[in-house]
Formats: sequence, structure tokens, C-alpha cells
Amino acid sequence: MDIHEYQAKEILSGFGVPVPMGGIAYSPEQAGYRAREIGGDKWVVKAQIHSGGRGEAGGVRVCSTDDELYDAAKSMLGKVLFTRQTGDRGKLCTRLYVEEASDIAREIYLGLVLDRETERIMVVASAEGGMEIEELSQEKPESIIRFTIDPAAGLQDFQARELGFKLGFGAELIGKAQRILRGAYRAFRDLDATMVEINPLVVTKSGDLVALDAKMSFDDNALFRRPSITELRDKSQEDRRETYAEDRGLAYVGLDGDIGCLINGAGLAMATLDMIKLSGGEPANFLDIGGAASPDRVLQAFKAVLMDKNVKVVLVNIFAGINRCDWVAEGVVAAFRELGLDLPVVVRLSGTNVDEGRRIIAESGLPIITAETLAEAAERAVAARPV
Ligand code: GDP
Ligand code: MN
Repeated sequence: MDIHEYQAKEILSGFGVPVPMGGIAYSPEQAGYRAREIGGDKWVVKAQIHSGGRGEAGGVRVCSTDDELYDAAKSMLGKVLFTRQTGDRGKLCTRLYVEEASDIAREIYLGLVLDRETERIMVVASAEGGMEIEELSQEKPESIIRFTIDPAAGLQDFQARELGFKLGFGAELIGKAQRILRGAYRAFRDLDATMVEINPLVVTKSGDLVALDAKMSFDDNALFRRPSITELRDKSQEDRRETYAEDRGLAYVGLDGDIGCLINGAGLAMATLDMIKLSGGEPANFLDIGGAASPDRVLQAFKAVLMDKNVKVVLVNIFAGINRCDWVAEGVVAAFRELGLDLPVVVRLSGTNVDEGRRIIAESGLPIITAETLAEAAERAVAARPV
């Protein structure tokens, strides 16, 4: 689960990481109040969306008058912003963060990620801040500093000092960097994060070190024991299709194609996506209906798949072990009747109660396209796409 910049800053600040003073605004007027509360004569208005790259997409604006604050806020609130990370669906901006502006001398990249190879938290840093890490690893790979933290010993002071040296810091900044790294590490470890990114971490002209931007992601499987993190969830920032499916206990991942998939078993689902691609099509989603799926669950799965308006064909592929083909068939028939389906549906059934399942489909009188094998099902789904 991802959270907003202002939420990540609040968390990190609680762990001793310095952040600029700021406040949330839901309207252009409120952005002005916030700026006056903060004081000073320069502020930054920042769109709160779950995405980086806001700067170049008009989602970060430095302002020095009331009018500028108003205009900046107005240009972001209620708008769908498109950044390099949002894809072509974009992200809706409904809240802003207003901050005192910082005078930047240098921008540093600092990230903490989970390294699966070493099973440790890895620190990633670069003196070339401001750029995204993907960009850095492409264009300036030699500038990237990496080291892992031993979970038993924790972050060692020498590691933080060494990082400071490599970033070209003097003694005073090294002390400050050490404190920030320690705070970010503790926040990561204590809250079951999977990522903490401070980009940029800036050296200000007055010689301070401040987190100017912050991002955190958390392990979904640990959220049950992190109620204070769970409540930071903002569903408006998530893929609507995935939220809908997740709320109904379905394992669904949204993709960009037009063939909606309803499959049992993650392995078969992956194989089906491959087969669709092999046949020249593009899947719209991954969806595993799970074991012993009732007709109603199949109906719910249809609803989840059809949430995606790009879907032009639905492919149902069942290899029933614990599942029952007759229940799945009943669910397909119910979907036609209750949802008034008017798009091609390809059904491939195999395994437990397959004869009964096929009979239900055949006797329904519905225009269901059937297939015997996975390959045949994928080919028929691709062929059934309206041109
Ligand atoms: P992102 O584009 O979504 O990663 O948003 P950031 O918060 O990282 O802001 C993008 C860029 O805007 C930063 O790299 C800075 O160059 C600039 N910026 C952000 N806040 C300030 C600020 O307080 N003062 C100045 N001068 N520039 C800022
Ligand atoms: Mn950033």
C-alpha cells in the first residue's frame, strides 16, 4: 500500500527526520490560509497523488503571493494529473500540501528498499538527487551508492558516516545525515514498510539537511497489525478495478488489454495470460476466482472483470479440482441473465463435474463460445474481439 507525501513526511518526522513546515489544503482558499499559518514569503504547493514526477507534470509549484497560491491550487485540485508514473489513467488530485519553500544548495537521492536477494533492507543513495532512481540507474549508474543493513546488528554508525563521505559531506552534515538515515531505517523496520524514498533530500543554503519529498510503501500482508498505517489508505489513488475486486476478496490485477479473464488458480491464470499473448491478444486483467467458487462468486468475478470498460471479450478458463464446473457454469449463466451481457464470452471447462457444467452451458441457449483446451480458448477469445 502506498501513502501520500504528507503522510510519509509526518511519519518520518516522528522518527527524527527534518521536514519543512507544511499543512494540508482542500481548496484554493485553504491553501492561502495554510501559507499564512506557516509564515515566510515563499511556499510550495504540491499535489498529493500517489506518484512521483509531479514536478514536471505541473504538480509542484513555488509561489510567493496570494494570487500565485490561489492559481497553483486551482490548477491542481479536482484535476487528473498525468506523470511518467501514473500511466494513461492518471491520478485524481483532491488534496494539496502547502509547505514553506526551501533554498536548495544540493539535491541528494536517498532510498531504502527491501533487497530480496540478501533478504535485507538496502540503502540506495546518489549525489545526483532530483532525478528518479530509474533514470539514475540508466544515465548515471556509477553515481549510485548501495549497502545493506544487517538485521541483527541494525544500522551501524560507520555505514552512515561512510555514506556521508561518499556524498561529499563535511563533518556537520555527516552527523545530520546519520540521524536521517537512522530515522528512515527505524520507520522502515518498525512499520513493515517495503520502501522509503526521500528524493530529494536537500542541503539548504543555510547548511541544513531536509527531506523535501518523501514516499513510503507498506507490506499489504502486514497491514493487519498496523492499524495506524491502514487508516492512511486513500482508495481514490488506487486502480478502481483492483479496489472493487479486493473489497470482494478476489485476487485481481488490472492490465491494459481488452480480454477480461476469469480463471481458477494463479498458475493457470498466468498461463492463460501467456496463451492470450501468444495468440496475438492482450489480457485486461489477472483474476483468480479461487477454489470451490460458488455460482455467486463467479457472478461477482464477472462484475469485477466488467468494471473495466476496455473489456471487449470475457474468457472463462476453469480446470476444476476443488472447484465444480457445474457451479462455474451456473455462475456464467447467472452473469448473462443478471448483468445482461452483450459481449462475447468464451468458456473452457475441464475437471470436476465437467459434463454437468457443459450441459448447463449448452441448455442455457445463450450465445456462449465454448472451447476444449487452453490454447483453443485463447485463440477463440482473440478471434471473438470485435474489430
Ligand atoms: P516529484 O516531482 O513528484 O518527485 O516532487 P518533488 O517534491 O520531488 O519536487 C520536484 C522538484 O521540485 C524538486 O526536485 C525540486 O527541484 C523542486 N522543489 C520542490 N520543493 C521545493 C522547494 O521548497 N524549493 C525549491 N526551490 N524547489 C523545490
Ligand atoms: Mn521527488
